[in-house]
Amino acid sequence: MRIASRLYYPAVIVIILFSAVAAGAADQTIVLKAARMFDGKSKSLIPNGVVVVQGDKIVDVGSNAAIPSDAKVIDLGDMTLSPGFMDAHTHLTLDFSGNFNERRLKELDLNISEQAIKATTYARATVEAGFTTVRDLGSRFVGSREFVDVALRNSINKGVVVGPRMLVATKGIGATGGHFDPTSGFRDFLFGREPDASEGIADGPDEIRKAVRFEVKNGADVIKAAVSGGVLSLADEVDTPQLTPAEMAALVDESHRLRKKVAVHCHGDQAAREAIEAGVDSIEHGSFMKPETLTLMKKKGTFLTPTLMATEWIMSKIDNYPPALQAKAKAAAEARSEMFRNAVKMGVKISLGTDAAVFPHGQNAKEFKLMADLGMAPIEALKAGTSNDAELFGIAQKVGTLEKGKLADVIAMPGDPTADITATERVSFVMKDGKIICNGPAPPRTAAVQDDEIDLPAD
Ligand SMILES: [Zn+2]
Repeated sequence: MRIASRLYYPAVIVIILFSAVAAGAADQTIVLKAARMFDGKSKSLIPNGVVVVQGDKIVDVGSNAAIPSDAKVIDLGDMTLSPGFMDAHTHLTLDFSGNFNERRLKELDLNISEQAIKATTYARATVEAGFTTVRDLGSRFVGSREFVDVALRNSINKGVVVGPRMLVATKGIGATGGHFDPTSGFRDFLFGREPDASEGIADGPDEIRKAVRFEVKNGADVIKAAVSGGVLSLADEVDTPQLTPAEMAALVDESHRLRKKVAVHCHGDQAAREAIEAGVDSIEHGSFMKPETLTLMKKKGTFLTPTLMATEWIMSKIDNYPPALQAKAKAAAEARSEMFRNAVKMGVKISLGTDAAVFPHGQNAKEFKLMADLGMAPIEALKAGTSNDAELFGIAQKVGTLEKGKLADVIAMPGDPTADITATERVSFVMKDGKIICNGPAPPRTAAVQDDEIDLPAD
């Protein structure tokens, strides 16, 4: 006891001193300056960008913002300040960018704790690329009930791990034999039983409600479901509907009653139409959507998250996939460019989302160029990856624009991204919640995240 109290006092003093230093650092006003600024909502860039940050908030912003005399000024020179980028569709706990069959086999002997540790490197690569908030749409390991995405989100929030703010979906809900059924393509009974609602596999409106409730109970911020077939699954066709209208109605009703948004994986046109009618918040992928379906989306205010990067990666590495998946990928790739062009022309709300994990984490910003190449004005692509995403995520009051009172998620990229959209791929300053994550080129990434690069065409 005596020994304990002797140790106790110095420890208290250290804690007090440490807290005083930490509090002092948090109160230091930081002013970020750059040649120009994208504020997340205006139609053009603003010259002479100034963002004044105190604690975790933006307290002033604009060309004429007053610079407090005691502020630490960081002048980034010929760069563009921007709200932190957002990605509406990632899988930060997974990496399926390599050979499909090898990965599928490896997953069976994977230690989930090891995968969780790897995921911390994916999270770091993502935030260092300028993506300060992501919606993480599915984290599933066959035969496991772990919630690695919830653990990663919580660890980031507590400052244990460096990464983006995450809104997580846990397992992703889908039908027996559908795109999300982790036992599809394996011999029947190999895993001893059929997956159930606790693994996100549900049939019928009541089971769908149970799956939604189970996921919210375990920490889901957003509900993800597969309403049509997909590219990287072995037992389905890419565009067939996989939930009935009654199941979709139950999915949306239960999620919205619990104040969760609904994102649906969907390539097929019929499934998209039914999902939009049911009131989902976003269609992910949407490859085969016809103009009439896009008209319905526009009318209902449903977001399209096109995930162009996923298709781009798969097509550039087509030999990594079995023939059946190659055929599905080619069909989706052929359809999606026209679908996206139509959506832009018709003014459908578009949110930037990439499907990171299909390609190595940290390359998310290449989506901006893909969107611009298919007819979206660069400034609109920038909005898709900031304020549009914030609106879709339901957190527009906190992030997505550079405005007084918002959280200080501020990034900077060289030059003018409206003149050269690939500037988004060279973010070198990242601040999240008022804390600087990097200033200068990011350090070389771990082998886990730099396996491969995708080379997009130059024009
Ligand atoms: Zn996905």
